[in-house]
Amino acid sequence: MSFDADAKMKFLYALRSHGVTDARVLDAMEKIDRARFVKGLFAERAYADMPLPIACGQTISQPSVVALMTQALDVQPRDKVLEVGCGSGYQAAILSLLGRRIYTIDRFRSLVAEARATFAGMDLPNITAITADGSHGLPEQAPFDRIIVTAAAEDPPGPLLAQLRVGGIMVLPVGQSDTVQSLIRVRREETGFDYEELRAVRFVPLVEGLGQD
Ligand code: SAH
Repeated sequence: MSFDADAKMKFLYALRSHGVTDARVLDAMEKIDRARFVKGLFAERAYADMPLPIACGQTISQPSVVALMTQALDVQPRDKVLEVGCGSGYQAAILSLLGRRIYTIDRFRSLVAEARATFAGMDLPNITAITADGSHGLPEQAPFDRIIVTAAAEDPPGPLLAQLRVGGIMVLPVGQSDTVQSLIRVRREETGFDYEELRAVRFVPLVEGLGQD
């Protein structure tokens, strides 16, 4: 299946019906072809609103969840953004059309290598993909205007809170793995952090240390 006019219309309709209304987010979701991030047999389901398996036992999130998280992040054109959980690179590619500079981290070297090749093939030069344990953030590039985490931790990791600039926003799932988690939005104010619960979600866990592959 190709991301033709008909596939795009259905894909965007599904996003709108989940409450995605931000025109810039819808435009980015329309421009980035999800099939480029899904390999093999599953590619034919790339435009369905479902999570799909990728390498290393990980998953590419459901498009409506990607879009809702992106909308909640409210990325501005001059923003420097950190993503923890590069996976296939799909979320980072969407962010790259909205912000100035995107840093995306994964604990699996092979996922990062594949995502880099995909970004190069799509001419998305403002993304830097890094193999590291993202729970420590990326101190050498901090502070960030926006931080998004696409794996679930029990609580927001302290180093990520510390690397969010005052006025910045972080969106992440929190909760025990394998149970229902909450998607939360954290705003850093002059005086502290504001937490807002957005909806129930289910993500793979944030795991410490580097992966084997
Ligand atoms: N955003 C991805 C999907 C992420 S799946 C996409 O658009 O395809 C979650 C990813 O988080 C997995 O690839 C997993 O390897 C990664 N991850 C889990 N714990 C991590 C950690 N501590 N540091 C960096 N990446 C981590």
